[in-house]
Amino acid sequence: MLTYEYLCKECQVLFLVILSMAEHDHIQVECPHCHSAEVTQQFSTFFAKTSKKS
Ligand SMILES: [Zn+2]
Repeated sequence: MLTYEYLCKECQVLFLVILSMAEHDHIQVECPHCHSAEVTQQFSTFFAKTSKKS
């Protein structure tokens, strides 16, 4: 199982999805917040993990 990071275009929320590679190829990921399918997979942010201070 691998962790994929997605950004929702609708509500601009980053979320993680844990999928097998086979699932990743076939599953339509949707935003857990607004259930939009307009999501884009994020790369490299996993390692360049900028702290979100609030
Ligand atoms: Zn969303």
